[in-house]
Amino acid sequence: MKKYIDLRSIADYSSLEEAGQIIRSGGLVLFPTETVYGLGANGLDEVAVKKIFKAKGRSADNPLILHISDFNMLNEIACGITEIEHKLMNAFWPGPFTIILNRKPIVPNAVTASLDTVGIRMPSNEIANKLISYSGVPIAAPSANISGKPSGTNINDIFDELSEKVDCIIDGGPTDVGLESTVVRVVDGIPTILRPGKITPEDIKDVVGKVQIDKHIFSKLEAGEKVLSPGMKYKHYAPNSKCILVYSDNNELLVNKINEISSLYKTPLILSTSENVQKYEGKLVIDIGSKYNLNEIAKNIFTDLRKVDKFNPDIVLVEGVKQEGLGLAIMNRLIRACSHNYIEV
Ligand code: AMP
Ligand code: MG
Repeated sequence: MKKYIDLRSIADYSSLEEAGQIIRSGGLVLFPTETVYGLGANGLDEVAVKKIFKAKGRSADNPLILHISDFNMLNEIACGITEIEHKLMNAFWPGPFTIILNRKPIVPNAVTASLDTVGIRMPSNEIANKLISYSGVPIAAPSANISGKPSGTNINDIFDELSEKVDCIIDGGPTDVGLESTVVRVVDGIPTILRPGKITPEDIKDVVGKVQIDKHIFSKLEAGEKVLSPGMKYKHYAPNSKCILVYSDNNELLVNKINEISSLYKTPLILSTSENVQKYEGKLVIDIGSKYNLNEIAKNIFTDLRKVDKFNPDIVLVEGVKQEGLGLAIMNRLIRACSHNYIEV
């Protein structure tokens, strides 16, 4: 790392001009967005984009999202935009919403993994927005983490794994949402959620009257199965220990099941909602937040998952939440963190 910009308590963003210059000249910048931290490079520079894949150890067939600061940038990189796509962008931008559109030839193949579409998002985080406009180019940025690890939601969590691989770190404190953006592709006129996030199916339905959820959000991929979003193929967010996600509509059944399974192990660790922490007596517990405040759970879940490995447990039991609203996105990340080990009682 060559440059550290601390904007945790300063609202003077003039220092971002230098970071924008680093992006323009082909460097890598770690920066906050409202979802998670991004590992960014000039999205129109193939050589710079390839550095992102190298730094993360990301598979070249998993495309990146281009981050823009205004609608002029949109027209440089996408074409053939339909009315319903315009409606969605107008409703949810700037914000935690990514849309898959037809790309223009200016977008390098490295960004799109040679697909004829490109994922685009206009972040609402002011630091991200200023950085993009100072750069003057769309910024390609996946989540800031080594591939497979939980996404970075504060600099502390990712400093060790990424600081030596980037040219600049911008510290904007913990991110607001804590989960990556909702990814949507309009298929046959119907907005299809490829990755759930803060913008929920209900939010989308309210704007355009229809929505569908890709089945791969929860189901395990069969060998050779085709997917609309390459990211669905990859293991993500997983701690080193075996993890099981447990859910029940009935809280007593949930607690009993987790107590029953954890008793079979020597060093179990439980990720529990605040309401249940006291119900796992004598066991090691991480409090993931109140089940009545899903925003809080979303905000902290990646940091909580990162804590797991420090305890080296022989089993991890994770309490699930109702798959409603933001709960859908939380459960999507948890089921993948648990490698699809899921029990419902
Ligand atoms: P991340 O960069 O970690 O936030 O992940 C970006 C997600 O968006 C991955 O799941 C990608 O597979 C998905 N994505 C990016 N571009 C496209 C595209 N053109 N078509 C479908 N999915 C995409
Ligand atoms: Mg990621």
